Amino acid sequence: MEKVILVRYAEIHLKGLNRPFFERLLVDRIKQALNPIHPSVEREQGRIFVYGISGEQIPECVDRLCRVFGIHSVSVASCVEKSWDAIRDAAIEETRPYAEVETTFKCFARRSDKRFPMTSEEICKELGHELLESYPNLKVDVHHPKLPVTAEIRQNNAFVYTGEVLGAGGMPVGSNGKAMLLISGGIDSPVAGYMIAKRGVMLDAVHFYSYPYTSERARDKVVELTKLVSRYAGRINLYLVPFTDIQMTIYDKCPSTETTVLMRRLMMKIAERIAKDTGSQALITGESIGQVASQTIESLCVTDDAVSMPVFRPLIGFDKEEIVEKAQKIGTFETSILPYEDCCTVFVPKHPVTKPKVDKLRESEALVDFEPLIEKAIADTEKMYIS
Ligand code: ATP
Ligand code: MG
Repeated sequence: MEKVILVRYAEIHLKGLNRPFFERLLVDRIKQALNPIHPSVEREQGRIFVYGISGEQIPECVDRLCRVFGIHSVSVASCVEKSWDAIRDAAIEETRPYAEVETTFKCFARRSDKRFPMTSEEICKELGHELLESYPNLKVDVHHPKLPVTAEIRQNNAFVYTGEVLGAGGMPVGSNGKAMLLISGGIDSPVAGYMIAKRGVMLDAVHFYSYPYTSERARDKVVELTKLVSRYAGRINLYLVPFTDIQMTIYDKCPSTETTVLMRRLMMKIAERIAKDTGSQALITGESIGQVASQTIESLCVTDDAVSMPVFRPLIGFDKEEIVEKAQKIGTFETSILPYEDCCTVFVPKHPVTKPKVDKLRESEALVDFEPLIEKAIADTEKMYIS
């Protein structure tokens, strides 16, 4: 009996006229995610089917599909000819592994091919009867069945499956433009990138390092985190910007209480320039109100003032605990907590301003001509393709 994976879309149905575009994009994203396995992926009447996979490949396929944004859920199904006998046999086979212990079930049927000689109700009734006959451990529970057994009769084939695995939801990456993630080695920024990518936004990423104050290892960690985010977000161009000269200059020439905020402004400026040159329409950070001194409302306003692009901060209202939970769920937490030095933490002032004023910060920034330093940093930026 051939096994296929049946894929249900997430929000795509909301998109009216754009629907074919979203569906094609989702098929592309699925093909990319399953690239090493190389199955055939087909779109058919509001569903996507993954064919041509062997039994051992199924768990990996399901795992990969559950990281593709735009997928609501998937089911591993037996694909059989459209005859009652074949559907019944498939339902008995699909149910067998669960029927070894006492459990409850309910049958569901969907018939998009109305020429099939039995109605959905008849299919459910007959299937229920057959399963009760075959397995003494099974009982029907129409309200809270532990085991839903579904038969879908479609144009070319029938599909029989038990249960479904929830996908990542969201919208296919690339359906909503591109944005530049400022990625540190911390817990927050990878989660922020995940959340924006989930809304269909393609990601690029930029990281600032201050060699020799930050180590090679800290850089590798950021590359690793970007890889983990790309398991969901697809290909990411990562820009590694040398930031030591700018940081040392701020440290030497500007008021010591303002170094962190100034550093953040310069990071944003450089990120915005790279973003503009490479087609990103917004910046993304992992900031949340009040988490640290540089994330008070005043500091966020001063940071925003440095750029004209919109800055997306999807974690703005999250507690650290909630962010950690999310990081664990998407699999970035363990890497994020490896010891590392971020360039932000290397030069932390003893008494940072917590209520910086835009005018004052603009003045402090004007103490130095940063333009040549910004240009040099961008010229020395290294680009990596992460996928
Ligand atoms: P994270 O856990 O993401 O490091 P954080 O709580 O440590 O965040 P900050 O260090 O103040 O907070 O950084 C706030 C945001 O600024 C980060 O979420 C990230 O988007 C960006 N950022 C910080 N350091 C860097 C860096 N070295 N390179 C690129 N972006 C950075
Ligand atoms: Mg940080």
